[in-house]
Amino acid sequence: MKETVFKKFGSLVLSKETMKERLPKDVYEAFETASSKKGELDNASADVIADMMKEWAIENGCTHFCHWFQPLTGSTAEKHDAFVENNNGELLLKFSGKSLIKGEPDASSFPSGGLRATFEARGYTYWDLTSPAFIRGNTLCIPSIFISFNGEFLDKKGPLLKSIELLDEKVTELLRLCGWKEVNSVKPYVGLEQEYFLIDRPLYKKRLDLILTGRTLFGHSAPKGQELEDHYFGAVPTRVAAFMKDVNEELWKLGVYAKTEHNEVAPRQFELASIFADANIAVDQNQMIMDILKRVAYEHDFACLLHEKPFAGINGSGKHNNYSLICDDGSNLFAPGKDHKEQLRFLLFISAFVKAVDTYPELLRMSVATAGNDHRLGANEAPPAIISVYLGEYLENIIEDFAAGNDVHDLKMVHDYNIKGFKNLPADTSDRNRTSPVAFTGNKFEFRMLGSSCSAALPNLVLNTIMAKALDETIDELKDVKEEDLERKVVEIIKKNFSEHKKIIFSGDGYSADWIKEAVERGLPNITSTVEAINHYDDRKNADLLEDYGIFSESEIKARKTILFEQYSNTLAVEIRTLLKMVNRQVLPSIARETLEYKNADSAMMKKHYEKLCACYDSISEAIGKLENDLNRAMEEKDEYQLARKMRDLSNDEMPEIRKYIDEYESISSKEIFTVPTYSEILF
Ligand code: ADP
Ligand code: MG
Repeated sequence: MKETVFKKFGSLVLSKETMKERLPKDVYEAFETASSKKGELDNASADVIADMMKEWAIENGCTHFCHWFQPLTGSTAEKHDAFVENNNGELLLKFSGKSLIKGEPDASSFPSGGLRATFEARGYTYWDLTSPAFIRGNTLCIPSIFISFNGEFLDKKGPLLKSIELLDEKVTELLRLCGWKEVNSVKPYVGLEQEYFLIDRPLYKKRLDLILTGRTLFGHSAPKGQELEDHYFGAVPTRVAAFMKDVNEELWKLGVYAKTEHNEVAPRQFELASIFADANIAVDQNQMIMDILKRVAYEHDFACLLHEKPFAGINGSGKHNNYSLICDDGSNLFAPGKDHKEQLRFLLFISAFVKAVDTYPELLRMSVATAGNDHRLGANEAPPAIISVYLGEYLENIIEDFAAGNDVHDLKMVHDYNIKGFKNLPADTSDRNRTSPVAFTGNKFEFRMLGSSCSAALPNLVLNTIMAKALDETIDELKDVKEEDLERKVVEIIKKNFSEHKKIIFSGDGYSADWIKEAVERGLPNITSTVEAINHYDDRKNADLLEDYGIFSESEIKARKTILFEQYSNTLAVEIRTLLKMVNRQVLPSIARETLEYKNADSAMMKKHYEKLCACYDSISEAIGKLENDLNRAMEEKDEYQLARKMRDLSNDEMPEIRKYIDEYESISSKEIFTVPTYSEILF
């Protein structure tokens, strides 16, 4: 191949092919066996692998290695160690199997929700053999899980891996029961679409709210918003194109298949989608994507905002999670089949998914609950806070047919658009419904409730686990069925799944007020705030599910719930304190200065303006006095749930009020005096 950027694809990731090339045959086989969970890695092999990794890393400019893990903060963490050792006064470059497999970062400063008291601060990281090591800067990063001294998970990856194994076990068992003996393993595959805002760094640096909270806490709407719909899919601006080019090249070097990029709906909003990968890797890669977006933005004098709602009045950002189950023979269990038998299998898995979502909507809702996402879910842009499943007219027709006792028919559909040269185009098996939180899109389900800054680990853990449960119940129903009755029974189960869980299926407009009413009548939960969503974590039903399958212990659930409450309350406390600071140091002094210019004016209109400014000053000043008092009072609350509720009320009731006054002032303020960058300046 000629020297192109693609030549460097994967150059910074230690692929299996490179490992195979560089390792003795028996050592590579030991690695393969261990990474496919069929055996343990012996110490001697680990030493050889570590040494090879060190050589490869040093050749590529590395001086350090680290265990790269995902603590419950939601981002990633690492502690770097150099390859250097002192060998009696001589420099020795060394990386042992022991250091490869196990690390021991001081765990005391990561959230543990009480699982680990500071006096027993030990925490361990263990190499995840299923996700490849990669290079960032001068460091070899080794994807790892993070657990406490007592073996409790302190991270997001460990439990996700457990859920992937659980699902594999249940799917393969069910497929065998149904006579699909050729399948040995199944994995969930995930494709993530990442939305973000890109704004000028010099303006970003002038707004404390953007720096500390990731969003604007006030700001009068620009005269133009997204109403002209001229940004979506429009030509990418030159500076942004240069940024995207660098982002892609960085990601390709890391073996991430960055694929699609385009302008999003709101001004300055963009999207990057990478090609789907197995869930564990997709989640890791999404962390890299978020990291690289931020770093490259910095190099281009931009700031990348991953917050779910950086600006009021225009769309926020999400992260669509495309999900399917793919077997080791390449077949996708959510893809319509080619013949009768495959078609039954397809419907069995689709119906199990519908059952899973309908049985555990609260848990799914919880998995995407964050303070930032509350500004988005249920607003007029993202999916509503009510979970429903969209299957599309085509699939719904099949199901109806099926329920009426008709045989499953050929699933191929063609369109005849009646344009010359465009005859018999294959049609998608589903239309698009943008308002649905969970939509079937032809051969996968798209879960659209994730916030843009969210780690995709928990939502996928929940999808895997609830799916495993639904399949487990199917296994029980089929276990003792005689071979000749099998098909009849499978048909019966599909029908039952669809009819018993009909209430979750909805094809209409998810934004409409009528739907909220109808959903309540159907008995679907409408959990509008993060506080209530978190509170469902340990509902009996949910705790039973997670504990029975060994995904979490009772104490792990309790700890995770505590951490989510803490993160929520802390996020809001930071927002409130930031608002107070900006008001006291910027807004009020500006108004005061501005009044001086009008104070002694003779003009009646100028006098009026003066009075308007004074009124703004008084309203803001009074409201922030109250907010400060109320914050201090709320912070005395000891109960985590009650504290979170109080913070939510401050955020919902008092902050918008203050914002209204500030925006009023901003709209009449002097550009010279009030220098906080406005929406017009930032967005256009
Ligand atoms: P849209 O914007 O229409 O939702 P995109 O092309 O932006 O579509 O994103 C679709 C995402 O779904 C991509 O990440 C793609 O790789 C992923 N995807 C495609 N097929 C599958 C599949 N079988 N399983 C999981 N993800 C998939
Ligand atoms: Mg999408």
